[in-house]
Amino acid sequence: MQKITRVAPPTFDFNIIDLTHTLEDNIPSFDLNCGFVQEIKSDYSDCTGEVKFRINQLKIENGIGTHVDAPAHCIPGGLSIEKLAFENLVVPCVVIDVSKSVHERYSVSVEDIKTFEKEYGEITEGQFVMIRTGWEMYWNDKEKYHNNYIFPSISKEASLYLLERGIAGIGIDTLSPDRPEDGYPVHTAILSSGKYIVENAANLQDLPIVGSFIVILPLKIKDATEAPVRLIGLIQKKLSNNIRVMGFFKSLSSLFAN
Ligand SMILES: [Zn+2]
Repeated sequence: MQKITRVAPPTFDFNIIDLTHTLEDNIPSFDLNCGFVQEIKSDYSDCTGEVKFRINQLKIENGIGTHVDAPAHCIPGGLSIEKLAFENLVVPCVVIDVSKSVHERYSVSVEDIKTFEKEYGEITEGQFVMIRTGWEMYWNDKEKYHNNYIFPSISKEASLYLLERGIAGIGIDTLSPDRPEDGYPVHTAILSSGKYIVENAANLQDLPIVGSFIVILPLKIKDATEAPVRLIGLIQKKLSNNIRVMGFFKSLSSLFAN
């Protein structure tokens, strides 16, 4: 008789957080045109069979909602979306949070990154760097979020500094890491290095500063230079507990300060 070996099911030891805005009518887009249209191509009532179907059809700009820019977006001959390698898309993530000092023309500086590194350690090769500006609070007001192309961004020098660190890619919770008035130095630097950019990231307040993983899986579209992405963060449950404990001690120590 064959012996049956029972294997315990693997445990998935992460909390999952959604870093993606929902695609729908009236969300902000780069040129303020409607970049997202979903129609009903045929409806339940159109079906003559016993089982009724509703079939949707999309008309979208590739760079709508939370999305990825591949090198080909502004580098002719650069990698297109479907060619981005998994090993650069499922990676450890750090969050540089400038939301406390941000204003509409804020540009994340080398100094901001150095301040982060002093506190949390050097950014290392293969990490994804997410910039949290807090601008996502305007997502539901598309004119304000767009703000005539004035929103927090990243300085050219900061992007070059991050490239020296060997990052996998960068992300931000605005329409772009570049304000058009500055030209596009961050797009040029990051994309010409074969890295990628995530724009319009959501829920960054839920992502720990260090210790998470990010999963960046854009729609696999041939020759696309941009594509919508379902962006998620993975936080080890143990880490989530540690963060809660750290938060508890922080608030406890503030009680006894003074
Ligand atoms: Zn872009």
